[in-house]
Amino acid sequence: MKNWKTVLLTLSITLSSQIFGFEIEKNVVARTKEFEAKIMTRKLVDLESIDSYDGKFFKIVYKKNEEAIKFYEHDGHTQLKAATTYYHLNKARKYFVEVLKSEFVKSLPKLTIRIDILNKFSELGHFANDNLDPQFNNALSIPAGLGYPRRRIAPWNNEIWFRPSKRIHISELGGNDRDKVQLKYILKAYRNQTHMVSFQNFLSKLLLGDAWSSSASTVSNVMRLAGTSVIVEGIFQSTGIAVDLFKQKYYRLDSALVPEIIYHEFAHVALSDHLAITHSSPVNEGMADYFAGKIANSKQLATKIKDYNLFSGKKVRKKQMYRYEFESQEYANADFVFGLLYEAEKIAGEKGPVMLYNVRTRIETDSSIRNKLLDGILRSCQLHCPIPGLNHIQLLKLFHYKGI
Ligand SMILES: [Zn+2]
Repeated sequence: MKNWKTVLLTLSITLSSQIFGFEIEKNVVARTKEFEAKIMTRKLVDLESIDSYDGKFFKIVYKKNEEAIKFYEHDGHTQLKAATTYYHLNKARKYFVEVLKSEFVKSLPKLTIRIDILNKFSELGHFANDNLDPQFNNALSIPAGLGYPRRRIAPWNNEIWFRPSKRIHISELGGNDRDKVQLKYILKAYRNQTHMVSFQNFLSKLLLGDAWSSSASTVSNVMRLAGTSVIVEGIFQSTGIAVDLFKQKYYRLDSALVPEIIYHEFAHVALSDHLAITHSSPVNEGMADYFAGKIANSKQLATKIKDYNLFSGKKVRKKQMYRYEFESQEYANADFVFGLLYEAEKIAGEKGPVMLYNVRTRIETDSSIRNKLLDGILRSCQLHCPIPGLNHIQLLKLFHYKGI
């Protein structure tokens, strides 16, 4: 018979591991103070398994598997992606639960995170057929589905999918082989124009010129990466580990190794009690990027936002006024929304992020900027702003100043 002390000890180990979870140190990609992406050792917390990426809140799986990736499975690169997503997702969750006090995020069931998944998403079947148009170089969040018992498709919850990266030559994008296609040139050209379109559309136009309309879908398939220019710029400027943007005329993006992409995708989930994650709109992309920036909490990124956001950026030559076209699908402008949120946060001060998170309860995915979003901000401000009366007037002034 076991000694009672051993029994007690076993019991307390079991209990404490259930309460606190396991921890392990792993190599992950994270940012230095200078906003460089580097491989560094970080603690993974809240694990429920001693030998796999199965945690209290996230389970990292390989492709279509349901079992978590083991610490000794696959190659080092896959391990790096599993550890990086696990680390940054927990960081993002912590922000919503602890800083924004989100009851919705706190009560989310464990999320399945897929690494290296090639399949397209299917609303009925979860995964589209393996041979159908494999996907690379991007990430997306998918909505829960009911499954299809007759075909043995189990129901699934919200998930986040990270595609594998693939080196693509710019000629494959249909672009010209010109020397101009260099990161510095691209970013400068982008900043200096009036930003009616997303960074992705801008690159399509740059690469394809007049052939743009016919080949745009090829490019957007390859480079699909929603989000605002400031965040996307941040991502592309940290080339090396995760990204090649036309380095030797190749494009490659390992979305599972970019902290801001991970935050952006989790933000979609954190907003999904009110904003659908099935499709992009200026409102939900601008909101997701705003929170990705908050979670990143980087001085370097904050400076970039201050200087280059198209709404009020200090170094932006032609600041963006509101245009009616932003409400249309074609000229949807997540940058404008991002800048608007950034300025509204300043008015609400420390309460800004909570005030903006609660805006989601007063809007929908397809809400217009001019009517619904502004109204949502004003109403949320009444509840969460430090000096509601004064802040209300300041917000109205801001909207007016931007021609809304
Ligand atoms: Zn998005």
